[in-house]
Amino acid sequence: MRSRLALAILAGLAFARPAVAQTRTVEHAPDRRPGEGEGPYAKLIIRGVTVIDGTGAPPFGPADVVIENNRIASISTVGYPKVPISPAGRPQGATREIDATGMYLLPGFVDTHAHMGGAPQGTPAEYVFKLWLAHGVTTIRDPGCMNGVEWCLQERARSAANTIVAPRIYAYIAAVQSAAPTGGLDGDDAGFPGPLATPDDFRKLVTWSAQKRIDGFKVLALDPALMTALLDEAKKQHLGVAAHLSQMMVARFNAIQAAESGLTTLEHWYGLPESLFDDRTIQDYPADYNYQDESHRFGQAGRLWKQAAEPGSKKWNEVMDRFLKQDFVFSPTLTIYEASRDLMRARTAEWHEQYTLPSLWKFYQPNRVAHGSYWFDWTTQDEIEWKHNYRLWMRFLNEYKNRGGKVCTGSDSGFIFKLYGFDYIRELELFQEAGFHPLEVVRAATLCGAEVIAKPTGKAPEFGMIRAGMLADLVIVPENPLHNFKVLYGTGHLKVDDATNTPVRVGGVKYTIKDGIVYDAKRLLADVAAMVEKAKQP
Ligand SMILES: [Zn+2]
Repeated sequence: MRSRLALAILAGLAFARPAVAQTRTVEHAPDRRPGEGEGPYAKLIIRGVTVIDGTGAPPFGPADVVIENNRIASISTVGYPKVPISPAGRPQGATREIDATGMYLLPGFVDTHAHMGGAPQGTPAEYVFKLWLAHGVTTIRDPGCMNGVEWCLQERARSAANTIVAPRIYAYIAAVQSAAPTGGLDGDDAGFPGPLATPDDFRKLVTWSAQKRIDGFKVLALDPALMTALLDEAKKQHLGVAAHLSQMMVARFNAIQAAESGLTTLEHWYGLPESLFDDRTIQDYPADYNYQDESHRFGQAGRLWKQAAEPGSKKWNEVMDRFLKQDFVFSPTLTIYEASRDLMRARTAEWHEQYTLPSLWKFYQPNRVAHGSYWFDWTTQDEIEWKHNYRLWMRFLNEYKNRGGKVCTGSDSGFIFKLYGFDYIRELELFQEAGFHPLEVVRAATLCGAEVIAKPTGKAPEFGMIRAGMLADLVIVPENPLHNFKVLYGTGHLKVDDATNTPVRVGGVKYTIKDGIVYDAKRLLADVAAMVEKAKQP
């Protein structure tokens, strides 16, 4: 049994990095069993579907979409809405057909900030992967690889070979400064054999990582000289860098400085208000503030955006222009801080009972030594501050998008009452709340994520939109998600059935297709529910 302190170290709370690497006890996903996913097929035809292609183009249909093995072969419109489809000219020769009349087809979703769970949460990989796929998530970018680099790369390879039930995995490992006071959020190290103390060490880390075919790095707090060396070398060797710029770092290196030094994505928002300061250089910390007290850290974070330059001000526009000039990408993970503005909503979400493992539920509870469990004495005023914080943050993101900037969806689930898969869908709802049109939300959830993953490599994305030649990563939903994103939740959407005037549950993803393999989303959810039920047995 791990001590609470060991858990805290894994969750990134201890000042010093553990001297010895943590024992990795997280269960790998089991090999794919018979009946878990069908295909790929020589010729799969999805018939009569309405296509939402991920580019921002409006829906169209009915269409027949042909998939040969793991690639989209063709997309053809075969008629007009509400008119019977003439069989003439429809693609033929299917080895498997899906009648998707009245349904919607979208590219598979990309979660740009997706931790694979682990020891602190007590979540086996199978549980996390199935929750993602059940919600249409076919690609994830893992910032940190908290279960260790080798563990992460093994699951990436097994997913790529489809020997496990899992989304595509992109591995960004934690680049942690040696002996830094608060270097590692995830209590993790890159597994790099050597110290990480000088700019040259960080250049060596990049070379070592490129040889291991690692996709990129996650940074929390590095001294500026180390950060710029990492960013420079990563760019040269075509690896990405995602940064959660911790409060321990932002006074010396904020988000716009990181963007202009070659950062790939800013995670969450830390360092962004600091980039917008025009009447101070440091956040207004109260005298008794202590970064190790997470109620201070998150309570004061909720009072931070109002310290930045006002929306529409000269400074606000000037900084936004500089981000635009870099074609910079934000991964805001709006969902992960939702409990800060509405604790009860996050705590009592209707999916917890059936789908949240008891170990994960325990991890979420208020605790001074567990990361993201800062409800020691959360107040009405704390929630009000956070609501205001969100308004300013959302305004920045929406305006940035309107001016041509990229903002992609990511969830950071597994902390703060946020559940894998379910709370990725919540991220889509929050993008809509920020002012994104539902088609802009879908693009942020599909093409945007695909582009940001491909960007450091210099290659074009192979998924993220519905086009001939792209990988067959797709989502089929019976209800229209543009009308209501709630129909994507595994628990569906409660509405009144007009014929009987009684409440009915509709929606949930029907099929998630990855690499041409068709997964029954309801079956994935049933597997997860069974795991939870079993874990609750005495
Ligand atoms: Zn994270």
